[in-house]
Amino acid sequence: MTRPAIRPGNTGAGTPNTGTKLEHRRPPLKSASCNDLGEAHIDRRHTLAGWVGRRRDHGGIIFVDLRDRSGVVQVVFNPELAPDAYRTAEQLRSEWVIEVQGDVARRPPGSENPALPTGTIEVIAREVRVLNSSLTPPFYITDEVEADESLRLKYRYLDLRRPEMQRNLILRHQVVKYIRDFLDSRGFLEIETPILIKSTPEGARDYLVPSRLQKGSFYALPQSPQQLKQLLMVAGVEKYFQIARCFRDEDLRADRQPEFTQLDLEMSFVDQEDVLALTEELYTGMIESLTPEKKLIKPFPRLPYAEAMARYGSDKPDLRFGLEMTDVTDLAGETEFRVFRSTIEQGGIVKGLVAPGQAHYTGSDLRRLEETAREFGAGGMSHLRLQGDGSLENLSEENILLSPGLRMPAEWSRRLAARMGAQPGDLILLMAGPANRVNLWLSAMRNYLGERLGLIDDQLLSFAFLTGFPLFDWDETNGRWDSSHHPFTAPADGKEPLLDGAELGNIESKAYDLVCNGSELASGSIRIHRRELQEKIFAILGYSKEQVEERFGHILEAFEYGAPPHGGIAPGIDRLVTILAGADSIRDVIAFPKTQSGADLLFGAPAPVDAAQLRDLSLRLVE
Ligand code: ASP
Repeated sequence: MTRPAIRPGNTGAGTPNTGTKLEHRRPPLKSASCNDLGEAHIDRRHTLAGWVGRRRDHGGIIFVDLRDRSGVVQVVFNPELAPDAYRTAEQLRSEWVIEVQGDVARRPPGSENPALPTGTIEVIAREVRVLNSSLTPPFYITDEVEADESLRLKYRYLDLRRPEMQRNLILRHQVVKYIRDFLDSRGFLEIETPILIKSTPEGARDYLVPSRLQKGSFYALPQSPQQLKQLLMVAGVEKYFQIARCFRDEDLRADRQPEFTQLDLEMSFVDQEDVLALTEELYTGMIESLTPEKKLIKPFPRLPYAEAMARYGSDKPDLRFGLEMTDVTDLAGETEFRVFRSTIEQGGIVKGLVAPGQAHYTGSDLRRLEETAREFGAGGMSHLRLQGDGSLENLSEENILLSPGLRMPAEWSRRLAARMGAQPGDLILLMAGPANRVNLWLSAMRNYLGERLGLIDDQLLSFAFLTGFPLFDWDETNGRWDSSHHPFTAPADGKEPLLDGAELGNIESKAYDLVCNGSELASGSIRIHRRELQEKIFAILGYSKEQVEERFGHILEAFEYGAPPHGGIAPGIDRLVTILAGADSIRDVIAFPKTQSGADLLFGAPAPVDAAQLRDLSLRLVE
């Protein structure tokens, strides 16, 4: 293989005259980072440093993929040009740390790698220095590798070397920086609040920290800085934010972590629309500048909770596709179908959705779909296949295929189809049961079909604000009222008198959520800022006067010293970055996450402690 001669000269001591900001980006030992190099650097000498990725020995010439944070560049060791460097290269193994001095050259025609940003060039090594060796890593450090996640978490420092993970860390940094710059430009102050505090309820279990100095007493880690930010409003701060760590001892689900990060913000002298407008501006600006390849629908729709439940069966609907639902309880009541009749007699509903163009489903397709519905918890699912084409009015009896049990004339099917907006060629799916259950099952089916029918545009971020949530939910298990959001949320304007009535479940609140592609990304509310109203809410939630005084006395008292009207929101950072990065799990955008069972596999936390530590805290473990 003939290689172009290298013109000696620039030793890489200074910044090459390329107009890039290499000088500021690279660590001091290097003259450039791997990914900075391109055709503009050809014939220049550079000093690089990083990790040995793949090493290939091609009959007398050794190729090393040198990787650093910026990316990868190919380094060539030629025994004739640099015999010492070549001999060292023979020893190199995966993940050794090296410093290489060499000359940038165009790759010989035919050997370019279009998959690599630096794929048209390579670095012809002159000198190499081993900075450190490495054990053979437990998995290859590449994006293609599908290592077991527990292994990745145990060796997180190796997992984080993978380019995809580096990209996620960079994106996360950019998101947080964008937030800080944006809010600074709007007059917000970033203020830290304590981690060792007293319970501030968000509906989860607290993490407790025993006090050594006050034996028998405990701090609680904040589930969010909720009360602290409200106290900052009483303190006259007017606009506060914090990139806040929150701690909630919950059973973990795929998109939850015991500690997670929120952008926590609060403003005085605002109403709901002010908070939503600011949040919308922040999100659209951030996404358009950081991930311009994503598509947004602007402005973000404001969707009342009741409407979201009716149309999508969910308070975090995926709005990237339609498949809206229709309540057909009245039409179902006309049938003799046992399941429908008994559901309706027990106060339940019949609701369905239309899978457009899917009337061709066979009996076994439908059985499989019903099986899926059962996995979502549904007892079953009925269907109508509207075969043929043309208009609905002319659809004949033999073209309407009903699920067994639904023996109804064509006229009924046509009325049902018209109500649901179905056309010949469509498949109608119906579920029956208690309203909250039907919504749950049918929205799972809706999400399943959205995916399965290919209705989802991967680049689309479909945001919406949900508004008008109920103030209280009935907690079946404990037989009491619970705050739907949290106890500090204000009732909607004019609804306060209803707090003295019996219909507590029908009181609208000033809480709102931001949802995107089927996930909740933020929630917030306009707050209560008067003591009597806050006390009334605590009483409805079942707190005794003593409990209220003991747990919330400080904030109630603060409300008596000129608390301004205020409200805020708290967008989750982990989920947002997951969506922007297109990552599979929030664990992929958190540097050191915990497993589903709350374990840190790298440190081995949680872990037992010494008897002496327990003694210091006056704690004894019970069997
Ligand atoms: N503190 C609330 C939460 O963490 C958000 C808010 O009301 O601002 O969900």
